Amino acid sequence: MVASAEFPKANETYVARFGDKSSLTLPPIKKLLIVTCMDARIDPAASLGLKEGDAHVVRNAGGIAVDALRSIVVSQRLLGTREIALFHHTDCGMLTFSTPQLREIVKSEAPGDKEVAQAVDQIDFHEFGIVEEAVKKDVEWLKAQPLLLKETIITVKSAGLTQLPG
Ligand SMILES: [Zn+2]
Repeated sequence: MVASAEFPKANETYVARFGDKSSLTLPPIKKLLIVTCMDARIDPAASLGLKEGDAHVVRNAGGIAVDALRSIVVSQRLLGTREIALFHHTDCGMLTFSTPQLREIVKSEAPGDKEVAQAVDQIDFHEFGIVEEAVKKDVEWLKAQPLLLKETIITVKSAGLTQLPG
């Protein structure tokens, strides 16, 4: 059985408890955008005390700012967010490999496929070795972004999984 087979039942329960959330505004109430890892163990809303309507949450492997830029521009220019909170975490999968290693894995699973090889060679997976340094690097990268609004407040934290915000 695929995991998605459980969606209809779960959605029924969700809809039954939906309440007045349809009256929430499109722009996030807290004018906040969070960038964090896609790690399945992280629940950004629960761990940061956020509710539906409060913030945009952009997730990707590692919570890497460069991957989030497109969403940040949409969020700031069209939906009014002015604060970015960037969270990385301990035990991140991005600490476990290098871009050349992952490229080799992908290529070895499609031997002789030049299209696959060329496509994966164009991807920098932005892995990192030290969480704190990765956060610092991302903030510097964000601050140097000409597309970021000048008044943007950037909050950072590298956190353990059990103590995401501190
Ligand atoms: Zn992670």
